[in-house]
Amino acid sequence: MLRPIVTTIDRAADGWESFLAGREAYREMSRAGFTKSFIPTEYGGAGFSMIDIAVAAEELTRIDINVPTTLLASGLGLQPVIQYGTPEQKQRFLRPFADDPEGELLASYAFTDVAGGANFDSPDPAGGIQTFARRDGDEWVISGEKHYTTNGTGWAKKGCQLYTVVCRTDPAQELISRSP
Ligand SMILES: Cc1cc2nc3c(=O)[nH]c(=O)nc-3n(C[C@H](O)[C@H](O)[C@H](O)COP(=O)(O)OP(=O)(O)OC[C@H]3O[C@@H](n4cnc5c(N)ncnc54)[C@H](O)[C@@H]3O)c2cc1C
Repeated sequence: MLRPIVTTIDRAADGWESFLAGREAYREMSRAGFTKSFIPTEYGGAGFSMIDIAVAAEELTRIDINVPTTLLASGLGLQPVIQYGTPEQKQRFLRPFADDPEGELLASYAFTDVAGGANFDSPDPAGGIQTFARRDGDEWVISGEKHYTTNGTGWAKKGCQLYTVVCRTDPAQELISRSP
């Protein structure tokens, strides 16, 4: 499914055309069950382990890096829910991706701040992640700027269906607590 489109993707005029050139291959991947491979079986997925995913990724990227990046970045966007979500959050956010045979849904992982991503866990809270989430009644209000958010456009350039956004909730605290 990937080999016939490699040249089209490589010769696309820009990143957007290149992304869209992989749409049909992504649909086929979804029909074949790739896009739900990451999702635990209890939420309708195939329950692949990280090793399974790594092996599949290595094989897919031997042919093309672009469409597998869309696939893996969507899986990356789902990972925080898979690993840390409550049962309700898993049901709400994972189930639609498991029931998406046409590959219409995309998730993305909004991690890299515009000001830099490599030092995300800076011990000095003045550095590292500078995107903040603040509670306002029943909602979280997020302020900050992200870039490099793979899949962030969605297929229609109207945004993807799920963003997981890395934020600090306490501006004075380290992002990752370390054991003493
Ligand atoms: C193909 C691709 C897909 C990507 N997809 C995503 C995605 O889906 N979501 C997402 O959030 N991000 C994504 N990224 C971004 C990627 O995760 C970041 O590029 C990466 O985290 C590095 O951050 P940066 O580019 O801001 O580099 P910077 O933080 O600006 O760092 C630049 C350089 O400075 C060095 N440096 C930085 N701080 C220090 C320090 N304190 N001490 C010493 N050296 C330092 C770094 O090692 C690096 O060499 C993607 C990137 C690529 C290339």
